[in-house]
Amino acid sequence: MYSFADNTLILASNNQGKIKEFNSLFEFAALPIQVIAQGQLGIIDAIEDGLSFVENALIKARHAAKASGHAALADDSGLCVPILGGAPGIYSARFGGEHGNDALNNQTLLEKLKPHRNGQPIPAMFVCVLALVRHAEDPLPLICQGIWQGEILEEIRGEGGFGYDPLFWLPELGKASAELEKLEKNKISHRGIAMAQFRAAMLAG
Ligand code: IMP
Repeated sequence: MYSFADNTLILASNNQGKIKEFNSLFEFAALPIQVIAQGQLGIIDAIEDGLSFVENALIKARHAAKASGHAALADDSGLCVPILGGAPGIYSARFGGEHGNDALNNQTLLEKLKPHRNGQPIPAMFVCVLALVRHAEDPLPLICQGIWQGEILEEIRGEGGFGYDPLFWLPELGKASAELEKLEKNKISHRGIAMAQFRAAMLAG
């Protein structure tokens, strides 16, 4: 079993949608780890000035580890649309210009895709990078990456999830991500895939 001091892990996120998903992912993983969201310790968000999901995940994890004195796990995630050169990518949370405004982000994505619609599906992927550091200067972080392939719808569908879920179409299921049950999404999503790698690494030691 991969170990760190006092088996306490700080979850380096203040995004309520993600925290909810992590709570059920950790419950399902049944690891002997106490997970505390950084907000419970009054830790504010780090400045994410990296150029990739990996860089930003590490920045957030190191920031939470430094502020808390515990091991920290960060998730940097987002949506990449190849026809837009990978955008919104690491800027997914603020694509419309206002951090965390999901409705505006979705509307912005639909606008940017208008010139590219020609009756063909628009492929896209959700990406999740998890970075675990045992302490702020950890030279050997654990990095796990999950990718979930889908397509971008022409209008929003479904009530569940958060972020771009109402625009993310899963052709094999005939559903948008926002139409999936929480557990169903966690089994197949980018975050679920990265979390399965994380769990395996924890248990392997
Ligand atoms: P971060 O907090 O900088 O990692 O931003 C992640 C952003 O990517 C979120 O605010 C959402 O817009 C988007 N995102 C990440 N994961 C998901 C997901 O599972 N569903 C929908 N949108 C997601």
